[in-house]
Amino acid sequence: GTSPNTQSDLLLSTPRPLTGKGSHERINATFVTLARNSDVWDISRSIRQVEDRFNRDYNYDWVFLNDAEFDEKFKKITSALVSGRARYGKIGEEHWGFPDFIDQDKAAKVREDMHERKIIYGDSISYRHMCRYESGFFFRHPLMLDYEYYWRVEPSIELFCDIDFDPFRFMKENGKKYSWVLSLYEYVETIPTLWDSVKGFMQAHPEHIAADNSMYFISEDEGETFNHCHFWSNFEIGSLEWLRSKQYIDYFEHLDHDGGFFYERWGDAPVHSIAAALMLPKEELHFFNEIAYYHVPFTHCPTGEDKRLELKCHCNPADNFDWNGYSCTKRWYEMHNLAKPAGWDTEGD
Ligand code: GDP
Ligand code: MN
Repeated sequence: GTSPNTQSDLLLSTPRPLTGKGSHERINATFVTLARNSDVWDISRSIRQVEDRFNRDYNYDWVFLNDAEFDEKFKKITSALVSGRARYGKIGEEHWGFPDFIDQDKAAKVREDMHERKIIYGDSISYRHMCRYESGFFFRHPLMLDYEYYWRVEPSIELFCDIDFDPFRFMKENGKKYSWVLSLYEYVETIPTLWDSVKGFMQAHPEHIAADNSMYFISEDEGETFNHCHFWSNFEIGSLEWLRSKQYIDYFEHLDHDGGFFYERWGDAPVHSIAAALMLPKEELHFFNEIAYYHVPFTHCPTGEDKRLELKCHCNPADNFDWNGYSCTKRWYEMHNLAKPAGWDTEGD
């Protein structure tokens, strides 16, 4: 639970002390949300849950980014919910639009074709800009330059358990650079040539590939083909300094120039996941079993009843996706030679 508020409201004035109203010391980190003004109520639900389950004790900042100006209503409602500083940024046109090396006619034909094949978001221009922005630019927004770690939050997510520790601090103190809660197989129609592009990058930049990487997680044949396993990036806690490194920027630019954000519909989830799997030593990736999470249509409900009771969880363990055939989490346990947690084979009933 929360500690009593023993300090005065003076703590809310800037510059803010490291200690929040709940008396927990922060590290240099922020929540980050990309949203449209029309997302205001859906993001409000997410913020309320993040605050109740965690941030009311810490008061971490929350950065909101948008390709349009946030309106007064969005700012008024969200800033009332965030316990830390709420900050609002507009995305520059150089980060949200077609780069000049993209052939617009070719991109338009792809969208028509994907529309006919009924591929989800296949005909959308804005969805492609969003995926490219999340892949290559959010961590370079001027507001984000102030921080070392980020936690991405999307509209309409749910958190089902108390978070009784500081995941940001956990990342920093344990040298983790990328973390996740749900993994699954990517829809192959959206990324037919992504792996070819990744292979081109690996050839051009062998110096960026970690010796002790997680290739096992994303390929069943030592890198010949992609098995489509990836971490679901609507939840991520990660290192901004890693994303801003030459390693990651070289990777993003290589992929970007191959054009698949527009000639296909590459998602930021496989793009981030492949980067983390290949360029980080596998010990720098982390699976947060104790963070219970929902984003339509999948749930991560922690395996293990003791943990769920202790953390006051309200998810149904039968909804947990981890041990489902379409999840890649089993493969993660295999890669790390970890025994599956007690209850994995019984709690789904
Ligand atoms: P899905 O989770 O893949 O179905 O995609 P979402 O619709 O949830 O979009 C992912 C994130 O990007 C969410 O945080 C959205 O609010 C945000 N987003 C999507 N499209 C746009 C857009 O055109 N402009 C802005 N500002 N945000 C967007
Ligand atoms: Mn979403």
